[in-house]
Amino acid sequence: MSKDKPHQLIFRMGSHSEKEYLTKTGRFLDGLIVGANLLEATPGATMSLLLKLAGEKYGVRYYVDPMSYVFGVYTDPKSGERREDLDWIKSNRKVKDKTVWGIKRSYTALAERYGGPFEAAIERGRAVDVSDFRNATNGKKICQSVIDYQLTRIRLELIKDKELVEFAEDAPDPAAVFAPYFYIEPGNKQALSELAIKTAAWSVEVAPKNIPVHAVICADRSALADSTLTDRLVTELPKTGISGVWLWFSRFFEADADVADLKAFRRLVENLSGHLLVYNMHGGFFSLALEKLTGVSHGIGYGEQKDVHPVIGQSTPSVRYYLPDIRKRLGVPKIELCFRALGIETPKDFFDKVCDCVICKGVIEKISDFSAFGEMRYSRVESQRMAQTPAAAKRCRYHFILNRIRERDWIRSATKNEVISAIKDAERKWNLVPMTSEMTHLAKWREVLSAE
Ligand SMILES: [Zn+2]
Repeated sequence: MSKDKPHQLIFRMGSHSEKEYLTKTGRFLDGLIVGANLLEATPGATMSLLLKLAGEKYGVRYYVDPMSYVFGVYTDPKSGERREDLDWIKSNRKVKDKTVWGIKRSYTALAERYGGPFEAAIERGRAVDVSDFRNATNGKKICQSVIDYQLTRIRLELIKDKELVEFAEDAPDPAAVFAPYFYIEPGNKQALSELAIKTAAWSVEVAPKNIPVHAVICADRSALADSTLTDRLVTELPKTGISGVWLWFSRFFEADADVADLKAFRRLVENLSGHLLVYNMHGGFFSLALEKLTGVSHGIGYGEQKDVHPVIGQSTPSVRYYLPDIRKRLGVPKIELCFRALGIETPKDFFDKVCDCVICKGVIEKISDFSAFGEMRYSRVESQRMAQTPAAAKRCRYHFILNRIRERDWIRSATKNEVISAIKDAERKWNLVPMTSEMTHLAKWREVLSAE
């Protein structure tokens, strides 16, 4: 495998329950990324999966997302207020029969391992601040501890285990280490983007020379339109000595974004790619299709984008069926409404016109079986709301993973014109009343991808 080929597909393991999917399909990926909080929550299980996939046999690259931003300041999505109370990493916990509102255990453990301002933030109950990095000596120390963590956490876990201790020495290193990063709040872009550039440079200074250092630029979608900011990143990031940059524009959802944002994103990727490997940390098909993007990462369960600010108390959404032609997840009944117009009457019609992955072939013995992807039930007897069955969610996830891997393989060998005509064909084929409002993104993607 050439080292830095484009169109890399990297999955993000979001929770321990996703291990099953990755055990089965992870070997077909270019990389796997795990959040440091997950490594703290379920260290043994996460480590064994990483060792299996990153070992010699499969050679999947892995990355540890240091998740440093969660210890920083955030903007309340409801009020738009700037908050430094760390509430977004708190939850209700049971302590001796009492329910206590406090920092989640995995984040407390992580802060203790990082030490310095992270640990201090947890202790005082107030976020890490730009001023914690004012002094370069301190700043480098912070970068050092965050990088050491990414390089040693897995080995520490192996050393703890009597039967695995002998593997500790040979445990594979991550493909790159990330500099600590924080959310570049819209109200404080200047100081926070300067901090991102500084932590990138310090990290290169302190990291072992044989391991590439990457930066994460985590900002609001509105930053895409701010050319002062993006120009600064393009000019300054390569000077820091990093080899790669991961972009994460919160609320930049490829399927909802307007042409201006999509264009700005493409331009930024191209401008950065002259000197650096460029990744989209939470992207989908559009990013995968960008020629200058090295790779895209996303979760496997609930979509390909991520808002920096989680909606607290939101119930788990259903996993919908990824419609390969439209490159979007949709409800099963909506897709079924199109069957007649598309002449889909038999399983063979379905495999020819919608999807012929092994999951669909296994599920659909007669055409009405397609509804198994949207199967609902009352989750509890007293429950008022119906929820998707776990089996249906699982089918949807596997079908999505297989399609995404297939898309990656196809994009790697397709020309730009072939990608554009495939999109155009899909628009023509699905130009049906239930779908017209669901595929407005396709024309926008086509416009932006085809621009010279
Ligand atoms: Zn399928």
